[in-house]
Amino acid sequence: MKTVVLEGPGQAQLASVAEPRIENEDEILLQVRKIGLCGTDLNSYRGRNPLISFPRIPGHEIAATVAELNPKYPEWRPGTPVTLSPYKNCGQCPACRRNRPNACRFNQTLGVQRDGALTEWIVAPAQKLFRADLSLKELCLVEPLTVGFHSTARGRVTAEDMVAVFGCGGVGLGVVSAAAFKGATVIGVDLDDAKLATARNAGAAHTINSANEDLHDMLEQITDGRGPDVVIEAIGSRQTFRAAVDEVAYAGRVVYLGFAKEEVAYETRLFVLKEVDILGSRNALPEDFHAVIRMLEAHRFPVEDAVTHMVPIEEAPRILEAWHHEPTRFGKIMIEVS
Ligand SMILES: [Zn+2]
Ligand SMILES: [Zn+2]
Repeated sequence: MKTVVLEGPGQAQLASVAEPRIENEDEILLQVRKIGLCGTDLNSYRGRNPLISFPRIPGHEIAATVAELNPKYPEWRPGTPVTLSPYKNCGQCPACRRNRPNACRFNQTLGVQRDGALTEWIVAPAQKLFRADLSLKELCLVEPLTVGFHSTARGRVTAEDMVAVFGCGGVGLGVVSAAAFKGATVIGVDLDDAKLATARNAGAAHTINSANEDLHDMLEQITDGRGPDVVIEAIGSRQTFRAAVDEVAYAGRVVYLGFAKEEVAYETRLFVLKEVDILGSRNALPEDFHAVIRMLEAHRFPVEDAVTHMVPIEEAPRILEAWHHEPTRFGKIMIEVS
């Protein structure tokens, strides 16, 4: 069957591999229909993802259809459109024991620590499948949106809150839509006007272009001088990590979703003075998948704005290279597998 293999930094190749086989009675054979790509895949392609080794088949944002009936799971009828959770947790580590498998110390994500789904067929445990009243394109967006949704759960976002989202790219856009879906007043912050326009379509009531507007002044103005109740950081830069604590309201919550590549210095007395909750957010839980499916079924996400490229699997190596050279030219890229 056809697949795409990352052979090394900058080397993606169309290849042929053996079809997968069902290895235990809880597995279901799936035909892969669409695969979404995100920043993780770009980092893997560039050789800058410390979690992967080469060669690796990417693909963790999946829309598929059930290919074959497993008599133990008659509810998964052939042809049923599904998406799936790409995570596999160990069940033993402290995070797993606290029922937070998303933060498993030994987590294995499809396409990262193990081969992914950018192939014509995969087998997956029945427990990882989710069905929905959605198109294949929408199903393919579920996983990337769960990451943002999870961060709003970590930040305990409610309809009472003003939530500032730093970064309105792929992950940040998911945060914007999740917070808006929960009824919060969302302030989207980015340097790119096109991303801010999409953020407004995803439910942001206010947007700030911090390239030409003063972030602090604008947040003060929008929140009547109180600061946002919750700040969710989805960029991972030194400045935005700091700004989150600087700008959040007294007794507010800060959620970090961006993965900072460098050390960050803080005015730590603000932690105490504001009695701020500082939270990390990683991956997503099954309940986040269900929540995102409800959000997409309610048409609360601008699917057409977000997905900018749809190409057949044969073009995957070429679009990865183009994306590497001009990352800002691309929104969500989807690969049509079959
Ligand atoms: Zn992703
Ligand atoms: Zn674990």
